Amino acid sequence: MKILHIVDKKIVLPALILLLWMSFTGAQAETKLIMLGTGTPVPNAERAGQGIAIIYNGKAYLFDVGGGVVKRCIQAWKQMGFKSLNPTKISHLFITHLHSDHVLDYPEFANTYWWRRTSQINVYGPVGIEKMAWGYYQMIRFSIRHRIEGKQPVKNPTFYQTIQHEYKKGGWTFNKNGIKIEAFEVAHGDLHPAFGYKIQTPDKTIVISGDTMKSEKVIEMATGADILVHEVISEDGISRISPFWQKYHSSYHTRTPELAEIANKAKPKLLILTHVLHYTAPVESALHEIKKLYKGKVVLANDLDVF
Ligand SMILES: [Zn+2]
Ligand SMILES: [Zn+2]
Repeated sequence: MKILHIVDKKIVLPALILLLWMSFTGAQAETKLIMLGTGTPVPNAERAGQGIAIIYNGKAYLFDVGGGVVKRCIQAWKQMGFKSLNPTKISHLFITHLHSDHVLDYPEFANTYWWRRTSQINVYGPVGIEKMAWGYYQMIRFSIRHRIEGKQPVKNPTFYQTIQHEYKKGGWTFNKNGIKIEAFEVAHGDLHPAFGYKIQTPDKTIVISGDTMKSEKVIEMATGADILVHEVISEDGISRISPFWQKYHSSYHTRTPELAEIANKAKPKLLILTHVLHYTAPVESALHEIKKLYKGKVVLANDLDVF
């Protein structure tokens, strides 16, 4: 009984305080990965453009912000209880590359309720994100001026602006708040630079491929990872398009036999398929094809899946 009494005081009480604090702040003790958008440039009502949130220690880190991703953040916040996905609470956005399906919701994200923000958004990504920010300032000039110079009280008149951190090469690293994020270069046809990201927290190692053809770098970064989120082309799908487009897409993206080879070498504990190019074949064709060639755990992601 005496031992139990000590256990009670020394462990149960602090654990209770931590639980109360977590429920109050919305903090997650465990790292969570939320698929906010799993789409491609192909119009799709069920899939937003690319977007992944990683939540660690009460903070959300966003990877890409394709069209519709901000609405998915709001759904995850209001309908699923992920308070750190309130868009005004997110202050770190990492961009893989500047294709439209990865950035179209950037103005929506930067502008959503900016006058209620308590911190500015830091945007990390390839050279070009600074120009993208200036394009957004031009687009929203009238509204910004009206809010700042009009009758609306605005405490932080510069908070519609984002802070850019550009890089040309892989190896750039973010290391703060107990989370380490490393950008690595991938091969995405003739689009340069394009990055994948390796994210490490005390309990998880996650690798996001970004858009890439089969990459040795992904194998290196994902070896031993808990989760590999990878883009893919279905063979059934690509067999239905013209030789020109087959060649084009194969030099920008990864086909299922190639992804199976990557997974067989890297052996992640979980492989998540996203950004599936399947043309007129069913989206599930990519999953079926991978399962024939790879015996590890693999899932096909839908918007708002949580891992
Ligand atoms: Zn792309
Ligand atoms: Zn893409």
